[in-house]
Amino acid sequence: MPVGLVHDPIFQEHDPGDFHVESPRRLEVLEQALAAWPGLKMCLSLPPRPATRDEIGRVHTANHIQRIAGTAGRSASLDPDTGTSSQSYEVALLAAGSLIDLCDAALEGHVQHGMALVRPPGHHATPERAMGFCLFNNVAIAASHLLAVRGLERVLVVDWDVHHGNGTEDCFSRDERVLYFSVHQSPMYPGTGPAAMVGSGPGLGYTMNVPMLGGQQDSDYLRVFQDLLDPVARAFAPQFILVSAGFDAHREDPLGGMELRRGGYAGMTKILMDIAQDYCPGRVVLSLEGGYQPAAQARSVLAVLATLQGDTMLAQACLEAARQAEPSAALQRAKAIMAKYWAVFEGL
Ligand SMILES: [Zn+2]
Repeated sequence: MPVGLVHDPIFQEHDPGDFHVESPRRLEVLEQALAAWPGLKMCLSLPPRPATRDEIGRVHTANHIQRIAGTAGRSASLDPDTGTSSQSYEVALLAAGSLIDLCDAALEGHVQHGMALVRPPGHHATPERAMGFCLFNNVAIAASHLLAVRGLERVLVVDWDVHHGNGTEDCFSRDERVLYFSVHQSPMYPGTGPAAMVGSGPGLGYTMNVPMLGGQQDSDYLRVFQDLLDPVARAFAPQFILVSAGFDAHREDPLGGMELRRGGYAGMTKILMDIAQDYCPGRVVLSLEGGYQPAAQARSVLAVLATLQGDTMLAQACLEAARQAEPSAALQRAKAIMAKYWAVFEGL
């Protein structure tokens, strides 16, 4: 079964402005890398399609949708970081709609896993507003589709972008059907995501935040995935795994202060594939978020795609190294907090 892929030059048509780091160049470099990658012919590429108002409206308010729609055909500034060009509204609809189609394809067994290489990113967009380069929250919209239309009851959202996905957390912090897990640099934009934020009401314990100081390496991230995410995810028993896949924790990224290499991304992918294998085979779908060193991002994306295709050598080597590493203080703190909500940590 092929890995599903969304990639199309149309996603380069959103331009937030000259000198903006979230530039079309990110995908230009990625397209060149994909074209030279032997694995591409084993992927199934899905054509982009726009999300409908109903699909977007499951997450965003009518006011917000109206505001973004109002930027069609012109450049607008939505917040100090977030701008649009004439086609941004159309491209944002395509990003959200294409991710939904990719999820449906995985759910129906047409593809095994998948990755949507789309722009603009989404995880900072809240129900009411655009922020942090994000217009519509692609991953939240896809998760809402899986719940509302496909009738799923448990969706795991993993956010490994270097920034906290405040928008996604906002959407689901009171919803026990979505387990939201974020590992992010702190202090850093947008300033949210403390470990003590664990969700509320019926969603109490279904938000997991692991804020970490800069400088963390592959083994630090992988230990968090092995020791914290893996046991909780297995207790949750996801029917689908969505990933907010930013690559701005890469050591070459100009915004992030982390030290990841492509093997770290491969390792995190492998852990999610193993969880999926036991609970929802073939249903790990990633959506591009940040990543501002285009060449490093392209290498990391190819490492993720190769892992999804079953080439797990790089991932296995990094996972083995991580098992020998010391667990970080951030991991110990997050585990102690999660032990209040998840029996898997009893007796630790
Ligand atoms: Zn980011």
